[in-house]
Order: sequence, then C-alpha cells, then structure tokens
Amino acid sequence: MHKILHSLITVTKELTLRLDIDELLKLIAKYAAIIVETERASIRMLDPTGEKLMAIARSSTSFHLNPTEGFKYGEGLMGWVVKNQLPLRTGDAEQDPRFSRRAGMKNTMGSFLGVPIIVGKNSLGVICVIHPQKNYFTELHEVAITLLAGICAPQVEVARLSRLATVDPLTGSLNRRGMESFFPKDIIPVEGEFGLICVIMADIDHFKKVNDTYGHLVGDQVLRQTATILSSVLRGGDAVIRYGGEEFLIVLAGVSIERAYAIAERARKTIEETIIHLHHTSFHTTISLGVAQMHPGESRDDLLKRVDDALYEAKNSGRNRTVIAPEGDWQ
Ligand code: GH3
Ligand code: MG
Ligand code: MG
Repeated sequence: MHKILHSLITVTKELTLRLDIDELLKLIAKYAAIIVETERASIRMLDPTGEKLMAIARSSTSFHLNPTEGFKYGEGLMGWVVKNQLPLRTGDAEQDPRFSRRAGMKNTMGSFLGVPIIVGKNSLGVICVIHPQKNYFTELHEVAITLLAGICAPQVEVARLSRLATVDPLTGSLNRRGMESFFPKDIIPVEGEFGLICVIMADIDHFKKVNDTYGHLVGDQVLRQTATILSSVLRGGDAVIRYGGEEFLIVLAGVSIERAYAIAERARKTIEETIIHLHHTSFHTTISLGVAQMHPGESRDDLLKRVDDALYEAKNSGRNRTVIAPEGDWQ
C-alpha cells in the first residue's frame, strides 16, 4: 500500500513537466508496471478516427503485441474497456469470452487488468497490465491503476490535443504549426549535431487537372498517397510537412546535398511509377522538386525562398524533375 502511494505521488510530480504525448504515455506505462509489480504494461490510444486502438507505449520491449497493428473499437479485452468505460480485471485472460486471439500471440497472457483513460464523456484509451501468473491482480491493483488513469487523464488530453494541432488530418504530415516547432523560424544549425540541414520542396504536377478530371476525393487520395511515399523514403527523425495545398516540405538533418538530391529523386521516381487505380481507369502523377542546403548563418526563411526558387525552376524546365538550388552569394 505504502509503495503504491509512493509511486502515485512520484508520477504526479513527474507529470508536472511539459511532456510530449509519446514521453507521457511511456511514463504512464512505466509507473503502471511498477505499481502492480509486473513486467508488462502498455497503453493503447484510440486513433483520431475513433475506430482503432493503437499500441502507443509499453513498459518493456518484450511485449508481444505488434505496435503497428490496431485493435478495432470494442474488440478484445482492451476494446471492451474503452467501449464500456469500465475497468476489467480477469484472472485468466484467455478464458474470458471477450478475449480476442491474434496471430503470433504467445500463450502467456495469464492475468489482465485494463483501465480506461476517460476525459469528459470520452475514452481516450486504455492502460493495461499483464502478469503471467493467473489470478494475480487484486482489487487494490485495480483501484491503484484507476487512480493512475484519473491522475494522468488531463495531461494525456492536453498532450493529445497539442499533437493533433500539429498534424494535417488529411495526410498525417505535420502542418504549418507543426513545422514551427519542428523547424522553427529562428533555428540555428549547430555544426556537428545538426551538421547539415537540407530541405526538399515537392509540388504535385498539374494537380488541378487531377481534381478537375477525377474529382476532389480522388485528389485527396493522391495527396495522401504522395505524403505516404514521401515519408517512406525518409529515416525516422526526418519530417514531412504539408507546406501548402499540394506542396510538401521535407527537412533532412545531417545529410549532404548529394544525398538529399538522391532522396528527392527516389521519391520522384517512386511517385512516377505508382499507378492509381480507379473503377474504370487508372493514372499516375508526377512531382517536381527543389533541393537546398542551409548555409551557416542562413535564416530558415531565406533557405525556404531558395528551395522554392529551385522548385519553380523544376516546374519551368518541364516538371517531373529535381533541381538543386544554387549556392547563392552567402560566402
Ligand atoms: P503545377 O504543375 O504548376 O503545380 O500545377 P498545379 O495544377 O498542380 O498547381 P495549381 O497551384 O494551379 O493547383 C493546385 C491545386 O491543388 C488547386 C487546388 O484546388 C488543389 N488542392 C489544394 N489543396 C487540396 C486538397 O486538400 N484536396 C484536393 N483534392 N485538392 C487540393
Ligand atoms: Mg502543383
Ligand atoms: Mg502548388
């Protein structure tokens, strides 16, 4: 009892820090595991559509669920918790009729305890803890995790909304607001750590024609697909920003201009080769790109101006190509 209270007090103190949603959920998972003295705790959050529960954070890497795989709303023990907004404690999880078996799941569920994270009338997600021993979790465990969920819920909501405000709902890329925190106006590239910053500006060719020919919904689909392809050529840590309607900015940290050009070309060719299938027809799109490397001392906005000029040059010289921005007169 004393240990549990101590953990709850500690987590409350740590929550007062301004945390990013990923860090926050990791922290909650860590304390959930500590409080009930188990190895395995995880948090699943409803995705913005409210249809899927995505695994977001876990206390240990040995957790067996696939993080990219979502549970449908209401599916499985965790889905039940979110849908019914009630805790669920079961001594033998796999025997529970609500249990949903997944491919690749090991037979080590044992005991399960899930508690919803509720804000107002909505469930945001679920904190769940698992222990290989059957009938492991007690009523005290359930009360403690319920308290943990209650303490954390407002912070989770704030962090969730601030993340949501930085993401473009159509493509999942960062929006202009997200750009301001990821690539701020006053960024000063530090030699070494950030080394070289390169940016790529990509704009879909004749996109207006796609909308006019196939309709806005198909246009939206093309935008989503373009964003997905652009992200697929990047490493974790690089960002795709929806800079304008059909214009994307990619920020690459610590790469040479040659490497940035190669990445831009890979994206361009992938998009050119990707066929979009509709009911009675199919087509493909192309993109034009500009690439530029930040000079020491150059401002972000001057860099963006140069990359925009390079993109303009790519459009003017025939589209479906990548143009490297001239160095300019910075030396
Ligand atoms: P260019 O090759 O010179 O870039 O020609 P373009 O037709 O791609 O460029 P233009 O700037 O003339 O048109 C951009 C179009 O993008 C017009 C606008 O309706 C469309 N657009 C912007 N945002 C969205 C969106 O969210 N969804 C859809 N479907 N279309 C969008
Ligand atoms: Mg365009
Ligand atoms: Mg444009």
